[in-house]
Amino acid sequence: MWFPDYRPRRLRRTENLRRMIRETRLSPDMFIYPLFVRKGKGIRNPIPSMPGVFHLSPDTAVQEAEELQRLQIPAVILFGLPEVKDEKGSEAHAPDAAVQSTIRALKDRFPQLVVITDVCLCEYTSHGHCGILDGQEVHNDATLEVLARIALSHAEAGADVVAPSDMMDGRVGAIRQALDENGFDRVAIMAYSAKYCSSFYGPFRDAADSAPQFGDRRAYQMDPANALEALREVNLDIEEGADMVMVKPALAYLDIIRRVKEEYDYPVAAYNVSGEYSMIKAAAIHGWLDEERVMMETLTAIHRAGADCIITYFAKDAARILGAA
Ligand SMILES: [Zn+2]
Repeated sequence: MWFPDYRPRRLRRTENLRRMIRETRLSPDMFIYPLFVRKGKGIRNPIPSMPGVFHLSPDTAVQEAEELQRLQIPAVILFGLPEVKDEKGSEAHAPDAAVQSTIRALKDRFPQLVVITDVCLCEYTSHGHCGILDGQEVHNDATLEVLARIALSHAEAGADVVAPSDMMDGRVGAIRQALDENGFDRVAIMAYSAKYCSSFYGPFRDAADSAPQFGDRRAYQMDPANALEALREVNLDIEEGADMVMVKPALAYLDIIRRVKEEYDYPVAAYNVSGEYSMIKAAAIHGWLDEERVMMETLTAIHRAGADCIITYFAKDAARILGAA
């Protein structure tokens, strides 16, 4: 009976053989853990649509960072919840607001922790849009000035990396210029370059209380149907001075991650977003999926697609498994 000489099953026979030839390896080194912070003390309020994720205050964020250090997770990304929202999102650049206070608290205690900050207006504006309004539309260039102010206030508080997520045209250049003019040339920019107008952000909007009060974000975030446009967006951000680029969400956009990684030799981050997290959590609660295995399979797929770093709410759970292995 004829049979091919090569039988791939030979190297799948035992766990040690599989381990030896494994092509994609996850490590806590590549995880960035998101933290939602508000002003106050001792706050640890669960977010119902994201089991295991909490609203924190600066002091409890520091406790969280302690655990991240133990788990060898190098970085956090901060999202802020303001005390007061207004038309112009003024609290976003207030020097003593939640994010700025948390940066100082984290850096004070863990100077080596990489502190990344989300730079946007949607959590801070009364209308919930990512910029300054002109009638019913977000005014691009008026928004740039405010974004630069926010990034600068994060840099002044000690952030290592600022991450603009608004999708305004020219924001990376505007932020780079503001940082450089004020002596923060060492602060890096991780651009949310290809941020799609996705329904997978649902639970995050609960968490950050940032749902738009009218309309949607289709006039500035990307159409999920477009791939070439993502490459143009990445190209623009790199030309404007981005140090890292991001694709968001991750799971429904693995092809975009792959194309960006193949086209540009820049570090690529992927955001394993709230909806991707909550789907797995919800199915696991019902006993419909094996949470651990689906989590590890998902993160492996995102890394295999080409992401160098993964922003994920699973960071701690995955790091525990990797550490125990
Ligand atoms: Zn936004």
